[in-house]
Amino acid sequence: MPWKDGKTWVYSITYDEGCEELLRYALPLHRAYGVPGHVALVASQVGVPRDLPGSSYHGMMILSKAQIAGLVQEGWGVSCHSLTHCGVTFENAEREVVAARGVLEETLGMTVPLFCVPGDNTGHPASLAYAPKAGYTAIMTIYDRVNTRETDLYHLGRVPLHTEYPAPFFSVYDPYKRIHQAIDMEGWIIDYCHCPMPDTPIHPAKDCTTQELERRFATVREIGGDRVWLAEPNEVVQWLLAQGAEA
Ligand SMILES: [Zn+2]
Repeated sequence: MPWKDGKTWVYSITYDEGCEELLRYALPLHRAYGVPGHVALVASQVGVPRDLPGSSYHGMMILSKAQIAGLVQEGWGVSCHSLTHCGVTFENAEREVVAARGVLEETLGMTVPLFCVPGDNTGHPASLAYAPKAGYTAIMTIYDRVNTRETDLYHLGRVPLHTEYPAPFFSVYDPYKRIHQAIDMEGWIIDYCHCPMPDTPIHPAKDCTTQELERRFATVREIGGDRVWLAEPNEVVQWLLAQGAEA
């Protein structure tokens, strides 16, 4: 059997930045459909308004330590989304990748073994180079692909769960996105978006709406049945590492 408890594929979802609005618009759906969530947090911006001028999420309140602890208690996970979200380079990786982990762990009072590359994938090579020094067990990117048990944990792909792709694609929302591929591959989908809102996404190429999020969860449950393992990424990484240790 390929995954934990004989499940044949895995579904995870992550929210970058960790906006407080998740409590209002995403958490109820997670509870209703039994899907654990995950937030990728900028280490220097916990419990404060997001400070990144130019970002679609600038000024939005970020989850506090206590709110994050509450989510973790009900099965959610956390990753480090760099120190300041300025984009990881070989020049700043000591700070943005290595020091960031210590800052976030100190702030949250918990271990954070997963790194999530901020911005786009251009920061991946420098993140890769410094992740071992920081002791991260895995790195999440935004390469749009299904992971498998053989995927290098420092190259985890994530599937954009967005209302519409940017130019030149303009693709429409697809609640089935990569699900049948994941089933065929016995793979692992990690969805990603930021902060779903009712009716209109904050940014169509960075988010979906709450209605679209609910359709995704309903589709995962309907097609996945009892074959899908609903887990947050840290749990899956830990399980994979334990399998490797046994082998
Ligand atoms: Zn981000």
